[in-house]
Amino acid sequence: MRGLVERWSNINSYSHNLAGLAELSHLLKTEWKPLGDVEEIPVGFQESIDSRGSVQRRPLGRALRIRQRSDAPLRAFLCIHMDTVYPPEDGFTAVTEVDANKLRGPGVSDAKGGLAVMLVAVEAMERSSWAKKIGWEVLINPDEEIGSPGSAPLFDEAAAGNHVGLLFEPTLPDGSLVSERGGSGSYAVVVHGRSAHAGRDPHLGRNAIHAMAKTVVRLSELTSDSVTINVGNVQGGGPVNVVPDLAICRFNVRARTPADQKHVQEAISQVIHEADGQDGIHVELHGGFHRPPKPLDDGARGLQKIIEHAAHELGLSVAWRYSGGVSDGNQLAAAGLPNIDSLGPRGGNIHSHEEFLLVDSLTERAKLAYMVLQSIAEKGFTTETRRHGGAIEV
Ligand SMILES: [Zn+2]
Repeated sequence: MRGLVERWSNINSYSHNLAGLAELSHLLKTEWKPLGDVEEIPVGFQESIDSRGSVQRRPLGRALRIRQRSDAPLRAFLCIHMDTVYPPEDGFTAVTEVDANKLRGPGVSDAKGGLAVMLVAVEAMERSSWAKKIGWEVLINPDEEIGSPGSAPLFDEAAAGNHVGLLFEPTLPDGSLVSERGGSGSYAVVVHGRSAHAGRDPHLGRNAIHAMAKTVVRLSELTSDSVTINVGNVQGGGPVNVVPDLAICRFNVRARTPADQKHVQEAISQVIHEADGQDGIHVELHGGFHRPPKPLDDGARGLQKIIEHAAHELGLSVAWRYSGGVSDGNQLAAAGLPNIDSLGPRGGNIHSHEEFLLVDSLTERAKLAYMVLQSIAEKGFTTETRRHGGAIEV
């Protein structure tokens, strides 16, 4: 497993490095081929707003989907991404050994360690006598680190076709798993005004930067105990003797619960609507809540019980915590599939040049994931399981 993680992490698979993603995907395909039917799925484009306020489409890599016994009455969905946050020119491109149990490198825990854990858990399942009791679908997507803009529809399909989800994002160094997550939305506001000479005809102009500044203040004031709005980028204007006709701001929203999300979305629409109503000013809102909040519901609680039981059998203790970060588990939960999304290895400092992986956690987490799959195969996972946290035959 350590060898796989090193080999995979030494390939740069930044979300926009399509050649690197294809190279990694090829290696992953080789590993998965003996286990099920492998499909390569193009995932479309990432849309963004450029500095002229126009919509740009950037191509993305391909997802891998592997399926086995899709007609089984009980089906598990397993998933982790192959992309990382590190562009090749960033210089953080190779794995180094910090000590016998610690590797430092791009994606070692987020999420190439998770790719190894998922693979070995499924291999073990396929060797066991429980395999015939359970079908599975594995998805390895190429765009999670940019919010899964292309692979999003694959999660809706997965939620409709499976009963339970296991995702392999890294856990904390102490092994705690994530119980619930807040939601995240990313937006761009494009403000069009009217340009004019600032000295000769200022009355003919409509200043897009003034209009945007007011909008930024109003958006920022929507921040509360359970909602955060962060305006992270502004663009616009040119020579200072010209009334600017274009301004753009980009912001991220975090909402703790589905009710918070609904409330803040309505408030944002209202702010934009009012800004758009000003004389000579036109305001457009782009983007949305690509990752809805992931609350701890009955389904997730039922799965927690199964994981705790499996961990206990292995002599591991499990702690749960809330995270303000988001994952594909958010979208999966919103589409109705109960899931736990932090079954990957122990590691830390992810999204930084100090990202590390604790090597002994690879086998530990693969055993845990296998035990969870076995328990689901053995005892089933139904609405009743979800409600009471006990396992009941399907
Ligand atoms: Zn990740």
